[in-house]
Amino acid sequence: MAMDGATGGTRRGLFLESYGHFIDGAWVGGDSGKTIAVSNPATGAHLSNIQAGNAVDVDRAVQAAHRAFKTWSRTHPRARQQVLQEMARRLRARLADFAMMETVDNGKPISDATMFDIPATAEVYDYFASLPLQIHGETTDFPDSMLLVHREPLGVCAAIVPWNIPLYCTALKVAPALAAGNTVVVKPAESTGLSILEFFKECADILPPGVVNIVTGYGPEAGEPLVRHPLVRKVSFTGSKPTARKIMQYASQNIIPQTMELGGKSANIVCADADLDAAAEGVVMSTVFNKGEVCISGSRTFVHESVMDRFLEKLSAQIGHVRQGDPQDPRTQLGPQASKVQFDKVAGYLELGCAEGAHVLAGGAKASIVGFEQGLFIQPTIFSNVRNDMRIAREEIFGPVTCILGWRDEDEVLALANDTDYGLGGGVWTRDLTRAHRFAREMQTGTVWINRYYNFVPGQPLGGFKQSGFGRENTFETLLHYTQSKAVIVNLTEGPI
Ligand code: NAD
Repeated sequence: MAMDGATGGTRRGLFLESYGHFIDGAWVGGDSGKTIAVSNPATGAHLSNIQAGNAVDVDRAVQAAHRAFKTWSRTHPRARQQVLQEMARRLRARLADFAMMETVDNGKPISDATMFDIPATAEVYDYFASLPLQIHGETTDFPDSMLLVHREPLGVCAAIVPWNIPLYCTALKVAPALAAGNTVVVKPAESTGLSILEFFKECADILPPGVVNIVTGYGPEAGEPLVRHPLVRKVSFTGSKPTARKIMQYASQNIIPQTMELGGKSANIVCADADLDAAAEGVVMSTVFNKGEVCISGSRTFVHESVMDRFLEKLSAQIGHVRQGDPQDPRTQLGPQASKVQFDKVAGYLELGCAEGAHVLAGGAKASIVGFEQGLFIQPTIFSNVRNDMRIAREEIFGPVTCILGWRDEDEVLALANDTDYGLGGGVWTRDLTRAHRFAREMQTGTVWINRYYNFVPGQPLGGFKQSGFGRENTFETLLHYTQSKAVIVNLTEGPI
């Protein structure tokens, strides 16, 4: 059912009144007619309505992607490259608009969206734009035959996207899929799909119909049928562990490969010889960036006992300077949590930390911001006197909260840092680079930053050890996950074998 106008509704400021699904290059209404209201977490104000998709919508999108695969998979690599480059260019050309959309939809500070979300997303499209011409096979000669190994795309790929960094997480899935010649159906998170819908509206004229499709809706109604669809050849998922387990079960139905980017409980290790000012700044940033709603946030901080008091003094001072408030104010460093569910979850962990016996060194409560009484704000929080067996040190809080733990010797801190189900990120703060590399080698985690936190460069593998998931995004290896090899053996002999 086509919706009125090219996009599906009347524009009210940044967003349309309502959005259809984006299927086969057109904006279409959902099968059920049901919609989901999307609101601004800083004010509670209604922003737009999106479709509550179901299996019928998913089937339409997958069929469109399946048809489009026939031509997109045979499109010249240079043409695929140009599409991806143009996607990056269009993002940058409207950086301020897209940054504001992320801010209004998700609550993240405009400075985070302007400095990270949009430029980093454009980098991902640019990085994968550089790769289509590098996908090649290989040959091996034998006396009587020749082996040709081709790399072929898989087909329709499902991208299931979380709510914390919507455009970036979408790019990490869509860009490699398209670069390798696949087509995609994206299922955004139900609370933060607006920037994604707007971005593909912006790019609709450069994407052949069906190459990228978007079906919005709730996980069980739209996400499950997508992963179970018999024409879907791969699923890439970012989100929580319980949902990951379900998706792996659905994926087992048609035996499709998966990329899983899940949670973390990443450790910053502060050594006695560290530049304590830089370390305190890094720990604060790793705690409050994107309101702590980042899988790789530094949610545990291990501080050498000999510098504990001095470090905590610096940390408390720095966290006291974090500006919390209107996410649209460029000076704001900490906005509201993205949804009421998330807000309640983080608030619950603040209570739990106290009940478990941790000491609240800073924050520890909901924040009330003048002019934003409906906002879902949590104070930036430091728990000290934490033990690694407390739930606040073991479970992903996904808020602006870090837990301080002391350490005395290297073996002890490495054992504690690794004593977690997760293994996504980590930081080491020391002036001794030999020690830094020793730590980096022993830390069971996908990323280790030395004397900084949170920088992402093109080609840097992103992904986790242990229950933080498997598969890597943002790197050449990712392309291999979106292709499969085919062996062709040529007989070079004449006559019967
Ligand atoms: P989630 O895992 O439930 O949702 C992520 C995506 O999966 C959304 O698009 C959602 O609609 C979809 N989904 C949910 N159920 C599904 C199902 N049965 N089948 C298919 N798709 C489904 O995450 P959440 O509930 O939004 O957040 C819960 C927790 O997950 C957070 O508090 C945080 O700890 C973690 N999380 C981690 C990341 C990350 O970047 N690693 C991102 C978001 C959330």
